[in-house]
Amino acid sequence: MAAQPVSRMLRRVLRSSVRSCSSGAPVTQPHPGEPSQPAVEVPSGRRRFLREHAAPFSAFLTDSLGRHHSYLRISLTEKCNLRCQYCMPEDGVPLTPKADLLTTEEVLTLARLFVKEGVDKIRLTGGEPLVRPDVVDIVAQLHQLEGLRTIGITTNGISLARLLPQLQKAGLSAINISLDTLVPAKFEFIVRRKGFRKVMEGIHKAIELGYSPVKVNCVVMRGLNEDELPDFVALTEGLPLDVRFIEYMPFDGNKWNFRKMVSYKEMLDTLRQQWPELEKLPEEESSTAKAFKIPGFRGRVSFITSMSEHFCGTCNRLRITADGNLKVCLFGNSEVSLRDHLRAGASEEELLSVIGAAVGRKKRQHAGMFSISQMKNRPMILIGG
Ligand code: SAM
Repeated sequence: MAAQPVSRMLRRVLRSSVRSCSSGAPVTQPHPGEPSQPAVEVPSGRRRFLREHAAPFSAFLTDSLGRHHSYLRISLTEKCNLRCQYCMPEDGVPLTPKADLLTTEEVLTLARLFVKEGVDKIRLTGGEPLVRPDVVDIVAQLHQLEGLRTIGITTNGISLARLLPQLQKAGLSAINISLDTLVPAKFEFIVRRKGFRKVMEGIHKAIELGYSPVKVNCVVMRGLNEDELPDFVALTEGLPLDVRFIEYMPFDGNKWNFRKMVSYKEMLDTLRQQWPELEKLPEEESSTAKAFKIPGFRGRVSFITSMSEHFCGTCNRLRITADGNLKVCLFGNSEVSLRDHLRAGASEEELLSVIGAAVGRKKRQHAGMFSISQMKNRPMILIGG
């Protein structure tokens, strides 16, 4: 393997070949469909004790600002059975040849390594992760990893109703389903394909199988679906949904422009006109979402404010693309190929030094929406949201 830049701290850690991870807290696998957080509140004295006496988090997954990266998103494929306007350029994307994509064994080798270092949540994404034929098997194998508390998936929902019973049995514990409109004809316009009914079936299957909350991701775009916000919120009255309104983000080829973006504040103002009682919920650690609830409603509403109020300060996420590149920031264009190192026969320690160096270079925050919109990055379909 070619010599890699390794920070002094990493060299020290490598020399002593100590793998420092684990929070020290007991780790339990949640049952599929159960929330990943412990149902019982840990008394604050005990929480303080655990924090003070816990082993330090992996140095390789800690950046120069002390952010601990315990959440890994793995893209399983570049392919998708929809063509969402905001995600996929109109002419499609050139797909990476199959031989250059991570194999199942490579996905699992990397997952194992990250979990050993302290990653406790993995989300499978894409492309559309459910088009990968061995997705159930991958979930089952991830479920064997000690220390992995949550296995989530982000899906467009087209094949969900069919696959969810198997995925749940395999150990899938959290689901995000993308749905940007409740109007079937508009659905076809936004995603450039049919399938509204299948997505709704997927949402209802997830509820039926006990996932709670079922997260629904809705990218809000002016002139397209911002008039439907109240209809989405109304769904949370009787259903255990977390409807997440996502600010429209710029990626290569998605024709983003500032006027099409509806900010979190604007969405909130709209909803408060109808529901002045909309109540802010306490922020969860490292959460990207600002959560709200209407008293008496079963579900809740959240906002992903990556553009108007970024949450880089508490970012704990890393991404691996389907072709095996590690991306430390969704909006950064620096990437390192873990696939190439794996295929060159890198040892665990060598891989960790590559990962540690990339994490160490992670910037304090993204460049801001206007700079991002001018910057070269991948289209979202090739990153995995
Ligand atoms: N195919 C899956 C799906 O549709 O959920 C997973 C991949 S998709 C890239 C992951 C998430 O990214 C989706 O919830 C999608 O809505 C979101 N996304 C894609 N492009 C976006 C954009 N330009 N702005 C905001 N969110 C976006």
